[in-house]
Amino acid sequence: MSSYPARAVVDLAAIRSNVRSLAAHAPTAQVMAVVKADAYGHGLVPAATAAVAGGAAWLGAAQVPEALALRAAGIVGPRILTWLYAPGAPLREAIEADVDLSVATPWALGEVVAAARAAGRTARIHLKVDTGLGRNGLNATDYAALLPDALRAEAEGAVRLVGVWSHLAFADEPGHAVVRDQEVAFAAAVQLAEDAGARLEVRHLANSAATLTNPSIHYDLVRPGIAVYGLSPVPQLGGPDDFGLVPAMALEAPLVNVKAWPAGAGMSYAHQYVTERDTVLGVVPLGYADGVPRHASGTQSAPGGPLFVGGRWLGVAGRVCMDQVVVDLGPGATEQAGDRVVLFGTGADGGPTAQDWARAAGTISYEIVTRIGPRVPRVHI
Ligand code: PLP
Repeated sequence: MSSYPARAVVDLAAIRSNVRSLAAHAPTAQVMAVVKADAYGHGLVPAATAAVAGGAAWLGAAQVPEALALRAAGIVGPRILTWLYAPGAPLREAIEADVDLSVATPWALGEVVAAARAAGRTARIHLKVDTGLGRNGLNATDYAALLPDALRAEAEGAVRLVGVWSHLAFADEPGHAVVRDQEVAFAAAVQLAEDAGARLEVRHLANSAATLTNPSIHYDLVRPGIAVYGLSPVPQLGGPDDFGLVPAMALEAPLVNVKAWPAGAGMSYAHQYVTERDTVLGVVPLGYADGVPRHASGTQSAPGGPLFVGGRWLGVAGRVCMDQVVVDLGPGATEQAGDRVVLFGTGADGGPTAQDWARAAGTISYEIVTRIGPRVPRVHI
């Protein structure tokens, strides 16, 4: 048991159930649970293990070390794809660990082929096409030029071209014209590969938003991330409940100090919040070093990010500090040191969710959960 007072409780049953829900949304596709960035802050290995138990046949990791950490932890069943690496990355280790590699640039194919030869193995590769995101991926010209090289490397036994894939720029705005353009460009890229003789196992384009809202582009494999953790990728269209999802993480801490405070007193740095009446002040041991956004600081007129205390929603009073925030518990409050404060959870108890913090901080729920700091213990239940 950690002696650090705050904790992020991660409900692995929720992750299992979310993957089952996602599979039900995409019945013709396999599910790749995206577990990059420490499984969006939920703990790489426990979250990945839960996702696999929920039916994910694939795991997605942005970086090679994340993929290797999964294999090193004994996760051998699912296929793993990794896609973000620089020249000189440990591709040989990835190939030896049976990790699929994305090829998003011409130099990457050369490095993968060299690594496969050094390993004496065949590397499984997925060509990544930039169909309009304007980020990583081969543009149409490079893709058309690289395809024959990839097939030649396949004939020589260095690689096996198993996938063609891409990523959407506006998945969270279903019906956006760019989504349609990307769908068309992706279909053309797949066709080009198949016409050239590629025997693709998987074509994949859909992230969480597209998995939940755009069945026409599920192809053979969907790649949800945020929805695996029970958060809605399209909060403007619906919350977790609406998509059969359950938020997996709750961030909570005990009050460490509760004290009477007079009217007209400033709370915390720069006295950004001044009490309007005699009240009770509480101190919560979580701050921006733990991922509580400083943008969610509060004033009288604009309460900060929500704190759920004794069944009521209270805002952060004044500045979010590095290690702590202050809450105005109100006149006559009966809370004591040790009583629990929830920053976010499932919302089922009427409390806030990570989406509420995202709103308070002017960001997205992805940033809220991925930025929970390393000193906050993840407690997996
Ligand atoms: N696929 C790729 C290539 C990604 O980078 C990500 C995450 O940003 C995902 C899938 C999952 O996205 P989301 O969390 O929106 O489902």
